Amino acid sequence: MNEQRAGQSRSAPLVLTNGFALVGEELQDRAFRRLLIVDGIIRELDTGVGPEPAAEVQTLDLHGGFVVPGLIDCHVHFDLAAHPDAYSHWRQTPLVRSLTCLHNGLLALRGGITTVRDLGCADHLVLDYAARVEQGMITGPRVSAAGQAITVRGGHFCEYAREANGPAEVRTAVREQIDAGAQVIKVIATGGISTPGDPGASQLTLEEMTAAVEEAHQRGVPVAAHAHTSAGIRAALSAGVDSIEHAAFVDDVALKALQQSTATLVPTVSALNRIAPGLGIPETTVSKSLDVRETYRESTRRAIVAGVRIAAGTDAGTALNPIGGLVDELLMYCGAGMSPVTALRTATSRAGALIGGRVGVVDVGRPADLIVVAKDPREDLALLRSPLQVVCRGRLMELPWIEKTISELGKVIA
Ligand SMILES: [Zn+2]
Repeated sequence: MNEQRAGQSRSAPLVLTNGFALVGEELQDRAFRRLLIVDGIIRELDTGVGPEPAAEVQTLDLHGGFVVPGLIDCHVHFDLAAHPDAYSHWRQTPLVRSLTCLHNGLLALRGGITTVRDLGCADHLVLDYAARVEQGMITGPRVSAAGQAITVRGGHFCEYAREANGPAEVRTAVREQIDAGAQVIKVIATGGISTPGDPGASQLTLEEMTAAVEEAHQRGVPVAAHAHTSAGIRAALSAGVDSIEHAAFVDDVALKALQQSTATLVPTVSALNRIAPGLGIPETTVSKSLDVRETYRESTRRAIVAGVRIAAGTDAGTALNPIGGLVDELLMYCGAGMSPVTALRTATSRAGALIGGRVGVVDVGRPADLIVVAKDPREDLALLRSPLQVVCRGRLMELPWIEKTISELGKVIA
């Protein structure tokens, strides 16, 4: 545990000097002489000449580097390991599954991802992990976790989700997740691509999803809906969910409903990029993925062109889709016509607005979750793949320790 703690942090306060920061929700660049972090919060972003920091304060000269909000991945599965047969990992031993969470947390931090939303675990393992990270016992990003996804009996993910039929049972299922520490609720509105069956088939009904949203919102918890097709997306929006996940087959009616709602779309369109035959991925997943991949990309492009509010997510943990690939998702948005600065906002301020907790923005009074890159990432988003420094909760991450631990844990979960 000592080495774990050593990896997590050095002592606060922390001062970054001589850099540029991408400030506010619009990511406007501002030169600063010093950026002061105390107790995990950005206290000063100082453009003028002030007193030198005290000698005992940890100081890092950025030599003109750029400070960017820590990235946020709005859709991950921290108890999966991106193996070809990804969901078989849910049958692994408790030790391997626990180490997988640790490994994924470090992969995220290495990739500059300081917050994730975990949208569905086989049990409450990730809730436990998230709580211990929050308490400072484990080095990892902030995790807003759903616990188990809620699905109809025999529905998408039924083997690993909390099955519930009828509004009353759905309410009970929502309470179970929140009582166990869930900070978001995940409902399954339609079938999926990575499980058998029709991805378009409706699953939880409007009445069931309405019950889920009422129950969750009463307790201040947002709801995310897995939904691929028009009917499922529209039912989820009518129920009042806060985000639609995927939307691979969105049509104009559902796009309009999305535009008129306050919900955010989390496309996860990069999740299928590496799916191919002959790699050990289950045959049904390969054939369904290849069938829908172009349509999915086109759906995401149409959502971008329509100006739907988008937050970035990857569905990382699924087949050959390891944690840390968020920049690939952003580059796909750019390829579909989004500007780089807007793409960066989908993984910072817009994602932060969806998750809550004031994360995703660099400014005085905001949580000190930030990354440092050598040049302006608005001109080259690929710079974000390997940040020079990562600060999470105001603590400077020790990247060499993280790298070494990733490789050690990787041997266990391989
Ligand atoms: Zn997912």
